[in-house]
Amino acid sequence: MAYSKTRRFVAGAACPKCSSMDKIVVYAEDGKDYRECVACDYKDEMRFEQHPRALETRVNTTEDQIAAETQVIQFPPPDDE
Ligand SMILES: [Zn+2]
Repeated sequence: MAYSKTRRFVAGAACPKCSSMDKIVVYAEDGKDYRECVACDYKDEMRFEQHPRALETRVNTTEDQIAAETQVIQFPPPDDE
């Protein structure tokens, strides 16, 4: 029940260490975002280049726009034939 770590695979991401595709998972821990490879022992802290101050200066920003800009990682739907 204490397992709160949510891991999400990053579609199309290649491990910079072992070059495996679709083996990178991202998760948040202690307020930081990490990425980790499930095929090897690669692990790294992610540092998003976001600009929170730009959001503050915007007056007419809707919640949807904020959500769209905040969601860095997107998961494309599986291919439909
Ligand atoms: Zn790897």
